[in-house]
Amino acid sequence: MDSTKKISHLALDIGGTLIKLVYFSANGDYSEESRNGCSVVHGKLCFAKFETRKIDDCLEFIRFNILHHSGVQHPNGVAHDKLYVKATGGGAFKFADLFKEKLGILFDKEDEMHSLVGGVNFLLKTVPREAFTYLDGQKEFVEIDHNDLYPYLLVNIGSGVSMIKVDGDGKYERISGTSLGGGTFLGLGKLLTKCKSFDELLELSHHGNNRVIDMLVGDIYGGTDYSKIGLSSTAIASSFGKAISDGKELEDYQPEDVARSLLRMISNNIGQIAYLNALRFGLKRIFFGGFFIRGLEYTMDTISVAVHFWSRGEAKAMFLRHEGFLGALGAFTSYSN
Ligand code: ADP
Repeated sequence: MDSTKKISHLALDIGGTLIKLVYFSANGDYSEESRNGCSVVHGKLCFAKFETRKIDDCLEFIRFNILHHSGVQHPNGVAHDKLYVKATGGGAFKFADLFKEKLGILFDKEDEMHSLVGGVNFLLKTVPREAFTYLDGQKEFVEIDHNDLYPYLLVNIGSGVSMIKVDGDGKYERISGTSLGGGTFLGLGKLLTKCKSFDELLELSHHGNNRVIDMLVGDIYGGTDYSKIGLSSTAIASSFGKAISDGKELEDYQPEDVARSLLRMISNNIGQIAYLNALRFGLKRIFFGGFFIRGLEYTMDTISVAVHFWSRGEAKAMFLRHEGFLGALGAFTSYSN
């Protein structure tokens, strides 16, 4: 970052489900963040998240930490009595008036896709051990050669899913997406299991067994593989397919099995669509980001297996340590542009 320019201390990514904050903490006093239980500290760069539906908590956090005083003058030099803060995501539009009214700050809006790509490129170029693969329970960090970074496919799994082909700094195209994303997992999960939060749903899924509900190839073929077309008996033929039988009700299934099956279905589907798009454009590397992943082994394993299976080992699924803050980081680094 260019130190001759004023570096601001706050950038926001306001998504459909979560608000992500990236900011510099000058004094290193992190007690308030710990109290909120919502942030990780990396040196002086801090990360925090809030549920969008609880936006008042976010406003209070910013006010308490006086982050709203660290904005910049208008980027184009337009005189104004208010400070500007970089903001991206749909909420940068939706909540602009609220932030102006409650905190007296204006948003300098950054495009969402541009910020996502900017965040990933920044991380891959400057943060060591940022990217890793996860397969068969093995996490392996991947050092990316900066001269051999492009092209790659970025799959951001937020409330919905965006798939972006990245060819360079600021060179990208949104080539696909799916509405079956993190919001679907959380929304359906809440309806089906009565869980109140994402963390509760994840915890539940941890103890579940998807085979109780999913219809496997072996269920159809009497326990054997369908080897002629390369399907093992344990491959899922139909997610939630067993629930059609025996006149069973939702109450007859354990919520943990439902949560597990749902997580598997969403992750598998995204992995498969990602692979198909990578194939479409001849891309070998696929980076997965977004808060849906949350570093969860089961999710990463399912996505990796889907990519590995469909590409016959040709394409690689990779994950990022700062997966949930890609857009916010991109907006943050854009202060230096
Ligand atoms: P968006 O920008 O659309 O809000 P995110 O990248 O922030 O997208 O991801 C949101 C998704 O992350 C949710 O749909 C949910 O699946 C998952 N998630 C992870 N942690 C949480 C949490 N604490 N609360 C709600 N959703 C969460």
